Amino acid sequence: MNSAAFATKRRISILGSTGSIGRNTLDVMEHLGGRDAFAVPAITGMGNIELLARQARQTGAGFAATADPDRYAELKSALAGSGIEVGAGPSALIEAGHRDTDLLLAGIVGIAGLAPTLAAVAGGADIALANKECLVSAGDLFTAAMSRGGGRLLPVDSEHNAIFQVLEENQRHAVERIILTASGGPFRDYTREQMAAVTPEIAAAHPNWSMGIKISIDSASMFNKALEMIEARHLFGLRPDQIEVIVHPQSIIHSMVGYSDGSVLAQLGAPDMRHAIGYAISHPRRANLPVERLDFARLARLDFSAPDETRFPALALARIAMQRGGLQGAILNGAKEAALDVFIAGRTGFLDMADIVAETMDRLHDGREAASIEDVYAADREARAVARSLLREPA
Ligand code: NAD
Ligand code: MG
Repeated sequence: MNSAAFATKRRISILGSTGSIGRNTLDVMEHLGGRDAFAVPAITGMGNIELLARQARQTGAGFAATADPDRYAELKSALAGSGIEVGAGPSALIEAGHRDTDLLLAGIVGIAGLAPTLAAVAGGADIALANKECLVSAGDLFTAAMSRGGGRLLPVDSEHNAIFQVLEENQRHAVERIILTASGGPFRDYTREQMAAVTPEIAAAHPNWSMGIKISIDSASMFNKALEMIEARHLFGLRPDQIEVIVHPQSIIHSMVGYSDGSVLAQLGAPDMRHAIGYAISHPRRANLPVERLDFARLARLDFSAPDETRFPALALARIAMQRGGLQGAILNGAKEAALDVFIAGRTGFLDMADIVAETMDRLHDGREAASIEDVYAADREARAVARSLLREPA
């Protein structure tokens, strides 16, 4: 008998399978052998029940959960006769994280991804981390939980995945700095006056990457890069002054590590999240991925410029949050998420978001450390409340 028939399948659960990262993950898994190669203990989504049900049937998932507690019956009926277990609401997401798996892809957007990801961390799963908010809001607690759980932390955010690829573990003593590349977003060359007038639709149209709406707008304001600076600090154990940002409009160099001998190692590739996802879920083997190969003659040039922090104050806010430490990362993120929701609803201006975040960070700066995840949630709630009151939104 074919010995492959006895090979056990790799188990991969996906939080946020219906999102941009989730759909790309399923696409990579399909390319790497689909149901012959992988089992899917659990997947989760929120509003798009039809897609979640279709993904669950296609992958033969063990458990499918929607974050929306009111959609249980709809998901249940969409999966009738499939034998797939169904859940709804926040506790069902945590249940999804608890399902036994080899690797969990954390692809929920926002702080909502923290609790279900931590459930998988505690179970000892390897974590392919797209949800940067886990590290921004709860960095020290999250990395400590990873050490206790024993799983590997594999960055999916393309910049951090790039650094992970070129950071030589046995040369850590010689790492001087990391250089995160930023496309600069759609408003790279806008004046502040032009930026003040942009709509959510314009802000969500990213020049290079196709992503979810929130991260696309965060890229336009460079809050995404701000979150990534804090994420990098926790992932790679660096001081704030070792983390640099350079605008690189082509998004071909995904990030770089500078060493004490003056060498800079970079990882390059087409701007396609399937690189980073495929690398993380295949680690430590490099897989054959369905991504475009670079043609340097056609690219012809790569450009770089320093970011302008008067037009993109988010970068300075990240440095302040790193220097202050404690709960300031959670507060920056909570205020940012609240302001972003109000911007998407069309009730505040694009540039107001950074002002609101700065003011919220100052008001809630009291030097407190996060002793538990509950402290992180409390800081997140408090930051949202302050940001919403500054925006004159109902509590
Ligand atoms: P998305 O909006 O496309 O998808 C988000 C997913 O999370 C969906 O499955 C959605 O159903 C689910 N979700 C949304 N709100 C939820 C809630 N309150 N509770 C539970 N589930 C919820 O987002 P995305 O672009 O795929 O991004 C996912 C994460 O990956 C984000 O943290 C983002 O910063 C990060 N990331 C994304 C990209 C990218 O290319 N899209 C790149 C790097 C990092
Ligand atoms: Mg990124």
